[in-house]
Amino acid sequence: MVIAPEQFHIVLDAGHGGFDNGACVAGISEANINFQIVKALERELLNCGCAVSLTRVDSESLNSPYAKNKKVDDMAKRREKIRNLNPDLVISIHQNAFSLTSVNGLQCFYANETTGSQAYADAVQNQFNQSGLPIYKKVKPTDFNLVEHSPCPAILIECGFLTNPKERKLLQTAAYQQILAYNIAIAVITEHQRQNT
Ligand SMILES: [Zn+2]
Repeated sequence: MVIAPEQFHIVLDAGHGGFDNGACVAGISEANINFQIVKALERELLNCGCAVSLTRVDSESLNSPYAKNKKVDDMAKRREKIRNLNPDLVISIHQNAFSLTSVNGLQCFYANETTGSQAYADAVQNQFNQSGLPIYKKVKPTDFNLVEHSPCPAILIECGFLTNPKERKLLQTAAYQQILAYNIAIAVITEHQRQNT
């Protein structure tokens, strides 16, 4: 892939995959939904002229099958891929789970070590607020594994709760995945323009 210097280059990370299903509720695996939302977001960003790369490109994780600790190896490989791609932004997509089934909505986390990350997290949550989409709690800093010492801004989006029956159903539909993708894309592109003009 050739990336023009003026292009906004984003790495999309579908959380979990392969040996790791992530949260699993009523037979629905987080890893699958994460990947479906990443593909919808990829289409949306490409349509807007962004350059997009993916950490995992299918249902498989990135670890070696012989790794002693598959999770550690998977995350190390994702970090390595991100370092080599050297993007302007990393977006990691996840789904939440909680013991209370009434809890729902989106929450963004940002890499607290990298300047500019919080603005992207804020932009996404503001966009969801404006669109009347459910928000769980306000943005939070994190040193999440994937972007430890991240070379670029990075956010992790917990799109919704698999433990909420209504939201679990919505998260599986192409229509709602598209709504999520559209709102995330608009937010990060606008924020990127704001930071770079
Ligand atoms: Zn997850």
